[in-house]
Amino acid sequence: MMKGALSRRSLLQQTAALGAAALIGDVGTASATPAAGANDEPWFDRPMRWAQLTLVENDPGQYSPKFWLDYFKRVHADAACLSAGGCVAYYPTKVPFHYRCVWMGNSDPFGELLDGCRKLEMVVLARTDPHATHQDAYEAHPDWIAVDAEGRPRRHWADSEFWVTCALGPYNFEFMTQVHQEIMRLYKPDGIFSNRWSGSGMCYCVHCQENFRTAYGMDLPRTQDPQDPSRRNYWLWRQERLFALWRLWDGEIRKINPQARFIPNTGGGSLSDLDMKSVGELADTLFADRQARRGLMPPWAAGKNAKEYRACMGDKPIAGIFSVGLEEPYRWKDSVQSEAELRIWVADGIANGLRPWFIKFAGTLHDQRWLRPVNDIYNWSYGSERYLRKQESLARVAMVYSQQSANFYGGERAQSKVEDHTLGFYHALIEARIPFEMVHDLLLDPSHIERFKVLILPNIAALSDDQCNQIRQYLQRGGSVVATFETSLYDQWGARRKTFGLADVFRVNYQGRVEGPMQNSYLTVEKDPTTGQYHPILAGLENAGRIINGIHRVDVEPIEKVTDPPLTLIPSYPDLPMEEVFPRTQHTDISEVYAHEYGKGRVVYFPWDIDRSFWEVLCVDHGKLLRNAVEWAANEDKIVTVDGPGVLDVTVWRQQGSMTVHLVNLTNPMMMKGPFREIVPVGEQRVRLRLPRGQKAKRIQLLVGGAELRTSSADELVKITVPSIAVQEVIAIDL
Ligand SMILES: [Zn+2]
Repeated sequence: MMKGALSRRSLLQQTAALGAAALIGDVGTASATPAAGANDEPWFDRPMRWAQLTLVENDPGQYSPKFWLDYFKRVHADAACLSAGGCVAYYPTKVPFHYRCVWMGNSDPFGELLDGCRKLEMVVLARTDPHATHQDAYEAHPDWIAVDAEGRPRRHWADSEFWVTCALGPYNFEFMTQVHQEIMRLYKPDGIFSNRWSGSGMCYCVHCQENFRTAYGMDLPRTQDPQDPSRRNYWLWRQERLFALWRLWDGEIRKINPQARFIPNTGGGSLSDLDMKSVGELADTLFADRQARRGLMPPWAAGKNAKEYRACMGDKPIAGIFSVGLEEPYRWKDSVQSEAELRIWVADGIANGLRPWFIKFAGTLHDQRWLRPVNDIYNWSYGSERYLRKQESLARVAMVYSQQSANFYGGERAQSKVEDHTLGFYHALIEARIPFEMVHDLLLDPSHIERFKVLILPNIAALSDDQCNQIRQYLQRGGSVVATFETSLYDQWGARRKTFGLADVFRVNYQGRVEGPMQNSYLTVEKDPTTGQYHPILAGLENAGRIINGIHRVDVEPIEKVTDPPLTLIPSYPDLPMEEVFPRTQHTDISEVYAHEYGKGRVVYFPWDIDRSFWEVLCVDHGKLLRNAVEWAANEDKIVTVDGPGVLDVTVWRQQGSMTVHLVNLTNPMMMKGPFREIVPVGEQRVRLRLPRGQKAKRIQLLVGGAELRTSSADELVKITVPSIAVQEVIAIDL
């Protein structure tokens, strides 16, 4: 409704009249000030605290750049990402059809902020957003616009003044290349960060049709079926186009400033779209854009995001973009969320190796409540910086994630068939307080997995023969594997094998059937009749007799006869009428867990969806089985144990002269899905930590609680009592 009264067009005249009066502060010549640390040293590893101000079009002339620069300084932000161009140019661009901010008049809002940040010696990235353009561009270059499956050009879903652009054609390859060149020439920023650069869904424009036909000799797919050749080839082609675009922009940027980079907003877990192995090879730094949680997302999702990026980036720096507002589908972009929620989210990112990056939309503040919490978090990070840098994880457990399983086996059901298995196992490891990492399934070579004792394969269904061999070799070298459900039953393209690629490892063959969803099925907890003992995988379930089964099971046949399996199947029996609810089969000898030695390692294989069922039902018995399976497979002393109440995310790191243990308190007083309302501190935590061989603890500090602890002994096993944890505690041990 405001649009009619105060449209961009009608404001053209007003702002032109405002002219230079719209300027605030002194606008220096941006390019006159050299880039921060303008020398040969790459800047990527320098920033520890990022600030992003995403200008809205009516900010220039109305908001106070000085306020923001003062805030950046106060919070020790050492890098900034500032709005420059794309949808709206915030500098006096000369590129045709690069729409200039109507409100900026003759000013240069981007240059002004950039100059202010450089005076603070901050790294500065220019932000562009190419996903939408204006009417004049549409009229002059209709082929820049994305086209839907019915052949209609796409208006923007949220703002009908805009058109959605095609990411894979000349709009990006030609027009946006000119924009990026101009920004680099005029301002020489440290890089360009592009948001929404990879398209907004499938495009059927003339360029996409022609280019795809030239590359693969077929029409663009009109099916989501990943087994359809056109869909598979489209997936390949889109990757090729986007990586080509990345290389093009990066190359043009480096021609003007060799230390600068193009940094796309991309990356993530199994459901993310660009191949993360290639992303990790191309990028010198990345920014993980998961700004807050929504719906039923658990608070550890920030840490999971960090683990997925680090799996492919190694020790290259990654910032975690967090929003100060709510991130729900209704997009209250000007909102501010609770301080408790903000603190937990950022703490879990930091505990998992992310460098915090706050994002604020609009320079005009409608609600100031976030300023103090972010100030506190950033100042703590500044004071603790030496324990947050140049660190490597000491976790001994790693969980594999697989984009190819999501794409080619999961398809449209990738969330339930692939990701929900990961989420269930992830939650079990959090509850068990086991520090762990994630590993990409294309990086199963020794250099990426040798440091781990246990590799978890949560229904990693699609694996090539080579990947199966890498897992076999890992076992032969002494690693252990815990796998579930249909792991390795499909090849890398999602085609089902006759039996598991890892049949010899699991010691079972596929019997041609997956049963489920099963109603009212159980598992008998078996005692070994010869020893009278329970298998360690059943620890904590000795009194159960039987526990609930999962929801789906793979029918498998042991390759060699299994004597005295620890868990056996009680098949489904009627759950109504109540008079009929009794087991028709009291007991079977059908094993539902295979646990044995393989090579120099151990294997645990669950032929059912224990991890996905755990995610859906959160049955504590399934959580115990998952924990026990990992601990039995590890077969070694743990690097760290933490005993005490509550739910904690535990991570353990080594820096050059120190070690840290992060304990993030995820205990949430809300009964249902809930954002954090208040922080409920958890009581005493008893921590036992194994130091690296031959090392002694010189000094032990609590970086949040502020206490310095006496070292108990010269032992390699350090015992520490943390009296209480509110948001998080970080135990720092100087070695
Ligand atoms: Zn297109």
